Amino acid sequence: ESIIKMNNIAKHFERKIALSSLSFIINKGEHIALIGPSGAGKSTLLNILAGITNADSGEYLLDGKSIVNYQKRNIRSRKIGVIRQQFDLIASLPVIQNVLAGKLGEWGFFKSLISLLFPIEKETAARALNQVGLLDKMYEQTSRLSGGEQQRVALARLLVQNPEVILADEPVASLDPARAEDILSLMTELVKDKKQTLIVSLHSVEYAKKYFSRIIALRDGEIFFDLPSEHVTDSL
Ligand code: ADP
Ligand code: ADP
Repeated sequence: ESIIKMNNIAKHFERKIALSSLSFIINKGEHIALIGPSGAGKSTLLNILAGITNADSGEYLLDGKSIVNYQKRNIRSRKIGVIRQQFDLIASLPVIQNVLAGKLGEWGFFKSLISLLFPIEKETAARALNQVGLLDKMYEQTSRLSGGEQQRVALARLLVQNPEVILADEPVASLDPARAEDILSLMTELVKDKKQTLIVSLHSVEYAKKYFSRIIALRDGEIFFDLPSEHVTDSL
C-alpha cells in the first residue's frame, strides 16, 4: 500500500536545476535512506515531501491525495514529522516542553506551557522520554543536554507527534560516529512496530545499508539508483 507517489517532480532555483523529473513510489512502513553528494537535491526533495517547498511541476500524492489539497498545518501535525540536523528545539525551555510541542503543532511551545498543568500530558512526555532513555532529564533545561541527547529529545517529540511519515534531513551529521549510530538504531527501532514510513538523508552509505531497507541515491537532481540496500555495494 503506497503512502507517497511522486510523478515527474521538478524544482529549480533561478537558473539552477535542483531536481529534474523525479518519480518514485514509497510504501507504508518503508525505511528509506536518501544519499548523494552535497548539492544533489536531498534537502530540496525532503522539503517538497514535507510540504515546505512547492515543486515547479509534477504531481505529489500523499496518502492518495495531492499535496496541494492539504492544509499546511494538517500535513505537519498529523501526516508528516520533520527532524533536522539542528533539531529545532527551543534551548531555553525545559525538555518536557520541547517534547510536548510535538503534540500541539503550531504554537506548540506556547501551548505546551499550559499543558504542563495537566497530569496526562506529563505522562505522555514521560513515556516518550523513557523510550529514548531520557526520563531523568524531563525538567532539565534543553541547552544543558549534549548534542546526542538533544537529538533524542527531538525523537521523543516525534514519538508524541506520532506522524505517518517521518522525514529527517541529515539527522546525525553533527554527531560523532558512536552517537550517530545510537540515534539511527534508536530511530529505526522506535518506528519498527508502527508502520511509520521513514525517509532519512545521510552522508554515509555504510549507515544507509545498515539501518535502512531501501536506498535512493540522488546525483545532480536525478535518481542515480533506487535499490534494496542489500543490492548496494559499499564503494560508491
Ligand atoms: P543537498 O541537500 O543534496 O545538498 P540541496 O537540495 O540543498 O542538495 O541543493 C540542490 C541544489 O539546489 C544545489 O545546487 C543548491 O545549491 C541549490 N539550492 C538549494 N536550495 C536553494 C535555494 N534556496 N536557492 C538557490 N539554490 C538552491
Ligand atoms: P545540506 O546539508 O543538505 O547539504 P545545504 O547546505 O545544501 O544542506 O542547504 C541548507 C539550506 O540552504 C537548504 O534549506 C537549502 O534550500 C538552502 N540552500 C542550499 N543551497 C543554496 C543556495 N545556493 N542559495 C540559497 N540557499 C541555498
